[in-house]
Amino acid sequence: MPKTIPVIPAESVANLPLSWQQQLAQAITEPDQLLKILQIAPENFANNVPASEQFSIKVPRAFVSKMQIGNPRDPLLLQVMAQSQEILSVEGYGCDPVGDLDANKTPGLLHKYAGRVLLITTAACAVHCRYCFRRHFPYQHHQAGREQWVQAIEYIQNDSSISEVILSGGDPLVLSDERLDELISLLEAIPHLSRLRIHSRLPVVLPDRITGALVSRLQKSRFNICVVIHANHANEIGNEEICALSKLKRAGVHLLNQAVLLEGINNNIEDQINLSEALFAAGVLPYYLHLLDAVQGAAHFDVELQAGLSLISQMQCRLAGFLVPKLVREIAGEVSKTPANEL
Ligand SMILES: *Cc1c(COP(=O)(O)O)cnc(C)c1O
Ligand code: SF4
Repeated sequence: MPKTIPVIPAESVANLPLSWQQQLAQAITEPDQLLKILQIAPENFANNVPASEQFSIKVPRAFVSKMQIGNPRDPLLLQVMAQSQEILSVEGYGCDPVGDLDANKTPGLLHKYAGRVLLITTAACAVHCRYCFRRHFPYQHHQAGREQWVQAIEYIQNDSSISEVILSGGDPLVLSDERLDELISLLEAIPHLSRLRIHSRLPVVLPDRITGALVSRLQKSRFNICVVIHANHANEIGNEEICALSKLKRAGVHLLNQAVLLEGINNNIEDQINLSEALFAAGVLPYYLHLLDAVQGAAHFDVELQAGLSLISQMQCRLAGFLVPKLVREIAGEVSKTPANEL
C-alpha cells in the first residue's frame, strides 16, 4: 500500500495551543504594544521610555488577557507597565535593600535563615514586576547555573542543619522540566533534606507552565513539597490558573501565596479580602503580605506601615484566621522576615 503522508491543514496548525515556551517567547516586551492591545491611550503613560530602558517590560499574553480593556488603572497592568516615576531617585531607596549580595554562600546560594537555603536557579523571570527588588540585582553573576550546582549541592551536603531547599530566582519554573528533574534528583540524594519549596509566579502569569511532566515529577518526589505562588490581586486568579493549581494540589503539593502590599493595586480592604477568598477557592493559603522592599524605582508603590497594620486588623475582623496573611518586612541581617507589628 502506498504510504500517504498525513497533511495537517494550515488552519489547524495555527489553532494548535502554543507550548508554554512559545508563549514565553511571545511575551510582550514593548510598552506601546501592551497599551494598544488594551486600547489605552499612550498619554496615560507619558515618558515611560527611560523606565522601560532601565528595566524592560515583559508580560505573557495569558496575564494580559486578565486585564480590563481600556482601564489605565487596572491593577494587573500597573504591576507590569513602565512608568515615568520609576526613574526618580528617592532617598532611602537602594539597589540591594535585602542584603542578598552579602548572603551568598556559593554562587546563587543564599543561607540567611536557619534550616533553609535559597537557591537562585536562574536570573530569568516570565514577567517583569515593576516593584521587584530584583530589578537591580546583578543576577547574571549570582545565579546558580548548572556549573554552579556542584558547589551549591556540596555546601548543602556539608551542613546537616539544612532541611529545606527553596528554589527561587528569577523564577525557577522558567527552567525546563528536564533541568528541574535533574536538580530535584540531585537534592533528593541528600539524606538530611526533607522539604522542597518552589517560589514561582508562573502558575499565575503563565498557567500552561504546569505541565503533566512537571506535576508527575513533583508527585513522585520523596520530598514534602510546597509551591509558593505570587498573586497580588484576585483578578490574577482566573479559570486557567485554578485549573493549573488544582493539578498541583492533586499531586499532593502544598500551595501558599505571597503578595506585596502595593499602592494603587491592593492597598484597600476589599481587594485584600477578595484576594484571600480567591486564593482559598483555588486551594491556596495566604502566607506573606510583604511590605515593599525599598528598592530604587519602586517608591511610588510604597504603602505606609500604619496603613498596612490597619488593613491586617480589618482583615482579622472579617476573615477566617487562616485567610489573614502575615504582614512582614525583610530586613538585611535579620534571622527571619520581621513581622510588621515588631517594626
Ligand atoms: C524569605 C527567605 C526565605 C524563606 O523564609 P520563610 O520565612 O521560611 O518563608 C529563605 N531564605 C531567604 C534568603 C529568604 O529571603
Ligand atoms: S522575581 Fe518575582 S517579583 Fe521579581 S520580577 Fe521576577 S516574578 Fe516578578
